[in-house]
Amino acid sequence: MDLGLKGKRALVTASSKGLGRGCAEALAEAGVDLVLNARGEEALEATATEIRDAYGVSVTAVAADITTDEGRAKVLDAAGTVDILVTNAGGPPPGIWSDWSRDDFIKALDANMLTPIALMQSVLPAMIEKGWGRVVNITSQSVKAPIAALGLSNSARAGLTGFVAGTSRQVAPFGVTINNLLPGIHATDRAVGLDTGVANQQGMSLDEARAAREATIPARRYGTAQEFGQTCAFLCSQHAGFIVGQNILLDGGATNATL
Ligand code: NAP
Repeated sequence: MDLGLKGKRALVTASSKGLGRGCAEALAEAGVDLVLNARGEEALEATATEIRDAYGVSVTAVAADITTDEGRAKVLDAAGTVDILVTNAGGPPPGIWSDWSRDDFIKALDANMLTPIALMQSVLPAMIEKGWGRVVNITSQSVKAPIAALGLSNSARAGLTGFVAGTSRQVAPFGVTINNLLPGIHATDRAVGLDTGVANQQGMSLDEARAAREATIPARRYGTAQEFGQTCAFLCSQHAGFIVGQNILLDGGATNATL
């Protein structure tokens, strides 16, 4: 399918690895020029080179912490005007409700709520003026069904979801769509980190921890960054202009709900 995106320009934050990279690659495959970001310069430059070589699009790499004011300023400055924004950042650490301090919450809110909101506030005016734009926020399955150990994520992402619900309806008249993609468990470094925690806690191997989790997913496997990225690219495509303010779950059926 031609996504109708050739020559568009996208900013994908937190995109040297994992789901962000999956989105960047799928957009590049559709002919989109990219601005990529991550904190670690080496992995970021390697990803930028691989995507440039594979798809022949222009790729600008900006090493910065997207959750800080300075980092965002650096990234937005290099990005200039973009047609597509995909927001992403690392997820908060697991823990237990009684341990989290005000500072822990502020950090989570900064990373997973206020950063995507600030990025949207920066790019939306130009999209509205052009009469075309696409925003996809990578959030989490935890928005639909809480993951108890990820209470910081549950809280921050719920806040972002509320902002998108209202704002997406305000920008839709100008040809700009905002939607959220909700990953269930996907095979990325983040998943290895979480599985390692479970393995250590329960005295099992990493493979056993993963197999136990896969068994709880109706699709009996983890998702891949590639299939996640293709869904993101479709949401950014010309065909998805009527999809507004949605929260789309990619979880292999793990969330047991009718709607
Ligand atoms: P990942 O494989 O660990 O990749 C994270 C990417 O983000 C890396 O490129 C990392 O590079 C970059 N990054 C992290 N913090 C950053 C920051 N402050 N500023 C700029 N770049 C940053 O993670 P993932 O699995 O793709 O997860 C992406 C998001 O989806 C996370 O918020 C995660 O909580 C959420 N999620 C993931 C899953 C899953 O199963 N994978 C499920 C639900 C939700 P640097 O470290 O070099 O900065």
